Amino acid sequence: MAEETIFSKIIRKEIPAEILYQDDLVTAFADIAPQAPTHVLIIPNVLIPTVNDVTAEHEQALGRLFTVARKLASEAGIDESGYRLIMNCNRDSGQEVYHIHMHLLGGRCLGPLLA
Ligand code: 5GP
Repeated sequence: MAEETIFSKIIRKEIPAEILYQDDLVTAFADIAPQAPTHVLIIPNVLIPTVNDVTAEHEQALGRLFTVARKLASEAGIDESGYRLIMNCNRDSGQEVYHIHMHLLGGRCLGPLLA
């Protein structure tokens, strides 16, 4: 059984976060250290530590990450200018929190991904 992270506490509202969206499958909240004017984390409510732990059972929740990303990008007014979705996996990617999360970044020119 994977160990819970701080994100499970955010889902259960045991610690404060600026929650922007929540339903039965996913939760979206503002990143505590934003790297762009819009920086939201969208996570499945079920604990999946890394992309390596994804199974077919998770497809509905993981698909929901994209529909919520699209909705929040539109609400933030960055859908036309553009945005970036990132999901890190394990050490070399820089993953810090082992509860998978989609970063939604936008509101400024982000530049090339591999600069
Ligand atoms: P990673 O590097 O794992 O892909 O990204 C983890 C992200 O979680 C970072 O952008 C970091 O700022 C954010 N983060 C870490 N702890 C907290 C927290 O307690 N609250 C919120 N809102 N964001 C957090």
